[in-house]
Amino acid sequence: MDVHCHVNCAPLIDDAPLVISRAAKAGVTRMLVVGTDVSTSAIAVALAERYADMGVYAAVGIHPHDAKTVPFGIPSELFVLAANPRVVSIGEAGLDYFYLHSPRDAQKSVFKAQLEWAVKVQKPLTLHIRSGNKSSDAMDDAMEMLGSYSCLPPLLFHCYAGGTEYLNDVLSLPAYISIGGPVTWPKSDALREVAKLIPADRLLCETDAPWLTPAPYRGKVNEPAYVRLVYESIAKLRETSAPALANAVAANAARLFRW
Ligand SMILES: [Zn+2]
Repeated sequence: MDVHCHVNCAPLIDDAPLVISRAAKAGVTRMLVVGTDVSTSAIAVALAERYADMGVYAAVGIHPHDAKTVPFGIPSELFVLAANPRVVSIGEAGLDYFYLHSPRDAQKSVFKAQLEWAVKVQKPLTLHIRSGNKSSDAMDDAMEMLGSYSCLPPLLFHCYAGGTEYLNDVLSLPAYISIGGPVTWPKSDALREVAKLIPADRLLCETDAPWLTPAPYRGKVNEPAYVRLVYESIAKLRETSAPALANAVAANAARLFRW
């Protein structure tokens, strides 16, 4: 199971049928293809419809990088896409102060709009929160924003980067925490610590393919079939077996996405 990938984006989209069948052969029974703007969201939905029998589902939304491209709020095309039964999450939404491809204010307002939209359509919200170089600024702002709502949708912190510092605060929310390929990288001791501490019923695993390729394939294009390496790495840390971990994650994802 891969709860976050972008088979809808280059270069994976060029080989989507092969990428999806390699994932199936590797035992990936469900994958969530995540939109980052209107066009990638539309492609995610098209893939989810075409490969429904292979467990492909879609998330639709606006990535914080693209917040500045939607100055008038959520484009109406996304509301139409979200009504498709193959769409099981809104997002990826959130804040990225590392790259700052969109100004902070634009990111915050598009994040808020998607949060309220997810509540309205009763779908979980996939979150991308990445702080700037020196501080925990994006995580602070996200937690403050989430804390100001009395009614939150179920949340998925994709590629969680808040460290142990934010773990208890995140777990106090209706949130699942997803870990990807960086957990296999040599310098990721802090993330490995987090991967050990997440309660078994709140943990998810992902690739974020085509990015964040796990070891030993770093440098190559990532794809959902490699999620196996994430499971193996986390299972070792948690002193369990990869199949047992995969079963627990599958149950968590089924609860979250109702798929
Ligand atoms: Zn992503």
